[in-house]
Amino acid sequence: LVSRKWRVKPSVIDLGDGVTIGEGSLALCAGPCSIESEAQMEKVMDHLVANGVRLMRGGVFKPRSSPYAFRGLGLEGLRDFHRMARARGLKIVTEVMQVSQVEEMHDFVDVFQVGARNTQNFNLLDALGGVDKPVLLKRGISGSIEELLSSAEYVFSGGNEKLILCERGIRTFETASRNTLDLNAVPILKAKSHLPVIVDPSHGIGIREYVPTMALAGVMAGADGIVYETHETPETAASDGAQTLDFDESARLIRNLRRVYALR
Ligand code: PEP
Ligand code: MN
Repeated sequence: LVSRKWRVKPSVIDLGDGVTIGEGSLALCAGPCSIESEAQMEKVMDHLVANGVRLMRGGVFKPRSSPYAFRGLGLEGLRDFHRMARARGLKIVTEVMQVSQVEEMHDFVDVFQVGARNTQNFNLLDALGGVDKPVLLKRGISGSIEELLSSAEYVFSGGNEKLILCERGIRTFETASRNTLDLNAVPILKAKSHLPVIVDPSHGIGIREYVPTMALAGVMAGADGIVYETHETPETAASDGAQTLDFDESARLIRNLRRVYALR
């Protein structure tokens, strides 16, 4: 069902209020790795609004490699995130980690993110197949393109056709970068599937100074959008500071992404 053989026309996901993801426009989504506080959100939101970005990312349930790392503000943080975003006309994307969270999060999210550690959590995919909110499905840490499409098939066949695919880098033998951003996946996914494809250069390369370059490369590879991490003070971010842009870097990237998209 997610194949171009089944549907030739590219799918465009409509989030309402003029925010869409898919062919015909460049979708920009930015925000911190983790939602930390109202003060932090306010600063990020001001930055996004000032730069015309309508979609904000931010995790409240964080999948961390260590149980001692910051694991997010949870549902309470999500309510604040949602309320503050609504007041500013922003849509929000946030990660859901398990089936039981789908219902409790439902009314407070615009897009459910399935993280790379849950791409093959088939029960979660089944549950998301039954909701009426879009799903941003990340490629698994060691997942093939075919496996990503199979995971998308779970959600789509469950009845939820509002799906966005995300290339976020895969684990390879390379240690010079956090992950290996597989830009090959972009034209391949675009050819195989009618679903929108976005690129996450932050997790893809994991090194702040190279994130803009790979974001721009993602757009030239044919991505329908870019999702990246930004924070007022990346050095103090609760998670993923080393791959997070400050607001100056973020503003410059937004300008350059729009320029490069216009060249396509
Ligand atoms: C994130 O978006 O902050 C995240 C945890 O991403 P991924 O699942 O791609 O590692
Ligand atoms: Mn992150």
